[in-house]
Amino acid sequence: MQNALLDTIALEDAHTSGAYVKRDVQIVRGEGARLEDAAGRSYIDCVGGMGAANLGHGHPAILAAIQRQAAELMVCPELFHNPVRAEYQAALCAAAAMPRVFLCNSGAEAIEGAIKAARAATGRPTIVAAMRGFHGRTLGALSATWNKTYRAPFEPLLPEVRHVPFNDADKLADALDETVAAVIVEPVQGEGGVIPAAPGYLRAVGDLCRRNGSLLILDEIQTGFGRTGWLFAHQADGVRPDVLCLAKSIAGGLPMGAVLLGERAGTFPPATHGSTFGGNPLACAAGLAALDVLATSDLIERARVRGAAVLDHLRAGLPERAVRDVRGRGLMIGIELRGKVGPVLAALAERGVLALPAGRTVLRLLPPLVISDDDLWAAVATVEEVLADAV
Ligand SMILES: *Cc1c(COP(=O)(O)O)cnc(C)c1O
Repeated sequence: MQNALLDTIALEDAHTSGAYVKRDVQIVRGEGARLEDAAGRSYIDCVGGMGAANLGHGHPAILAAIQRQAAELMVCPELFHNPVRAEYQAALCAAAAMPRVFLCNSGAEAIEGAIKAARAATGRPTIVAAMRGFHGRTLGALSATWNKTYRAPFEPLLPEVRHVPFNDADKLADALDETVAAVIVEPVQGEGGVIPAAPGYLRAVGDLCRRNGSLLILDEIQTGFGRTGWLFAHQADGVRPDVLCLAKSIAGGLPMGAVLLGERAGTFPPATHGSTFGGNPLACAAGLAALDVLATSDLIERARVRGAAVLDHLRAGLPERAVRDVRGRGLMIGIELRGKVGPVLAALAERGVLALPAGRTVLRLLPPLVISDDDLWAAVATVEEVLADAV
C-alpha cells in the first residue's frame, strides 16, 4: 500500500501540467461524506469535491440515473432533440424560475456563456465584477476573477472589465455607465474567503442594473444546489438575476454547467454559441436525479439548520487569539485565521478531516449535505482542537 501511494504520487508528478499543488493523500473511494485513502484510512470530507459533491459520494439515485442513461444514450449533440434533455431543461428552468437555459460542461464555461449573452443582449462591452470575486480560469472568466496570482501570467485579459469593492452599492453605482453590459457577483464569495453578501446588497445591485440597462449575472456555481440552505442562495435575498450561472453540484458530481437566461437576457442569436458535450443525455439524467433528490429530501433544510448551529457553535467556541472571524451561510463555512491556513489543513488531515482553504488565511468547510450529524460535529470538534493548539 505504501508503495502504491508512492507510485501514484511519482506518476502524477511525472506527468502533471504543473497547474496543481497537491497534498500527499491518495483518495481511492468515497461514500456519503467519507473519503478513503490508499492505505484504507477513512476521512470526514469537508472538501466536498470543492463544491461538486453536495449530494455526497456514491449517492444511489445519481448512480442509478447514470447507469440507466449510459446504457441508453450518452452522446447527443444539440443538432437533435432528446427527451432526457428536454425534461431536464424544463425541470431546471422551473426550479430557478427562469425561462431559458444553455447547457455546458463547467463553471468557467457557464461564465463565458453569461458574458456572451450579456454582450449580445445589450450591445454593450463592459462587465463589472467584484474585488475578491472568483469566476473561473478561462480567459473571459479570468478577466472577471480578481485574484492577481491567477491573472498575472496570462495578461492581457479582457480590457472591458472593472472591479469594484464587494458589498458597496455606492461604489458600484459610480462604476456604472452606458457601456456596462452586466454586473457579475457571487451571493457568497467562495474562493475569495467565504464572504456573504450583506443584507440588501444583492437587491441594491439588481436595482442599479435595471436602472442602468445592465444585466445582473449571479454566479451560483459554488452556492447553488442547497449549499447555503436554499436551492439557490439568491432566493434568500429576494433578488431576481437576469443570468444565473451554475455548475459544480448541478449533476450530482458529473461535470456540467448551465447558463439560465431571464427575460431581459433574451436568447442567443442562432448559431452564435454552442458546445459539443453541452446538454449530453448522461449529464442531463444525472442533473435530473440531483434536482429530484434535493426536491424530495430534507437536505436543503438540514444545510440551513445545521449550518446555523455550527456557525453559532464556532463563534462561541473558537479562541480569539487564533481566529479573526467566523462566517458563512448554510454548510458553506469560513473561519478567518490570524495565521496561515496551510498548517491547520495539514493538522486536520492528520486527525482525519479533509478541508479547504479560501485564500491564505481562511479555512473553508464544504461538507457534502448528506453528512451525518455525528461526522459533522466530529469535524467541528476537530477544527476546535486544532485551532486551540494552533497558537
Ligand atoms: C468553481 C467556481 C467557478 C469555476 O468553475 P469551474 O467548473 O472550475 O470552471 C466559477 N465561479 C465560482 C463561484 C466557483 O466557485
